[in-house]
Amino acid sequence: MTKKTVGYVHLEWECPSCGTRNKGVDKMCRSCGAAQPDDVQFEQVAQEALIQDEKLIAQAKAGPDVHCPFCGTRNPATADQCSQCLADLSDAKAREAGQMVGAHQKSAVPDVACSFCGAMNAGTALHCVHCGAALPKQNRPEKAPQPQAKRAAGMSKTARYVLFGILGLVAIACIAIIILSSRTEEVVGEVQGVSWEYSVLIEALVPVEAQEWRDELPDDAEILSCRQALRRTQQNPAPGAQEVCGTPYTVDTGTGVGEVVQDCVYEIYDELCTYTELQWRDFDLVTLTGDDFAPEWPNPTLAQDQRFGAETEAYEVYFNADGRSYTYRPDDFNEYSQFETGSRWILEVNALNNVRSVTPDR
Ligand SMILES: [Zn+2]
Ligand SMILES: [Zn+2]
Ligand SMILES: [Zn+2]
Repeated sequence: MTKKTVGYVHLEWECPSCGTRNKGVDKMCRSCGAAQPDDVQFEQVAQEALIQDEKLIAQAKAGPDVHCPFCGTRNPATADQCSQCLADLSDAKAREAGQMVGAHQKSAVPDVACSFCGAMNAGTALHCVHCGAALPKQNRPEKAPQPQAKRAAGMSKTARYVLFGILGLVAIACIAIIILSSRTEEVVGEVQGVSWEYSVLIEALVPVEAQEWRDELPDDAEILSCRQALRRTQQNPAPGAQEVCGTPYTVDTGTGVGEVVQDCVYEIYDELCTYTELQWRDFDLVTLTGDDFAPEWPNPTLAQDQRFGAETEAYEVYFNADGRSYTYRPDDFNEYSQFETGSRWILEVNALNNVRSVTPDR
């Protein structure tokens, strides 16, 4: 993030002894003469006009004011001697600076009535123009513009109960399946028949639409169209970048003058292109089946821009055991070829009627 200075504005402080509001640049209370203590913070004025006085701006840039270690009086950072007691200021403590005092107040504020004499005064006035009484502080808007943070939406209580309920049921179902499938019994089965299924995938080279930045396009890309799009956002300025700035806010410089700043980021736009390129995609699945021990791979003729993809083989053996049917799926042809019709096998069957393993019945 780059901090940009919008300008400088006056701040104010409230005298803790008499409650009078004083200009930020005033180091002593205009009403009772007390020096501003170092723990009395500067506040925003109701309407912040940008300061034109170059000398004042230079003072604000010079660094936070310091408090005399002997009498406590506020002195500019550039002073060597206390303006009040002439003490040496080389060990003086600098005021706290850099903290945000609030969102920049640009808009005009309504006039206020003096509570003593009733005279109308400008909303920014500290003292009544008619009787000199201190004027009350105007309502200030909320402090500090918060950076926008997206808060994750919380789940409602009901939704949480329903979710826990569903998770519980799923867990019970899983446990039931594990129990049912792990309990097995042995039956003797006779092979009734077999079947095999051999498949081969045909892939075809087809044009596929895709998007890519112009400098990252594949060599064989056929460009359809390009447009400007946001490629990335960076913290520092760059030629051609689009500056995006947040709400201006006022920062305490420790001098009674506030610096109005803006946090900015820089958006880099680039050419995003839609193009087509040739990619291998699934085109067709060719399958041969049979119920013998001589399986064959399908061998279709390929067109131009086609190739064979993945091959799959599957086998099934059908058993009859005391009038019940069971299906067993051997892993490979070697195993499959042993299941002659009429041969007898011991089947390990679980409660879900799945055949877990098969051994010859000797
Ligand atoms: Zn005072
Ligand atoms: Zn002093
Ligand atoms: Zn008045």
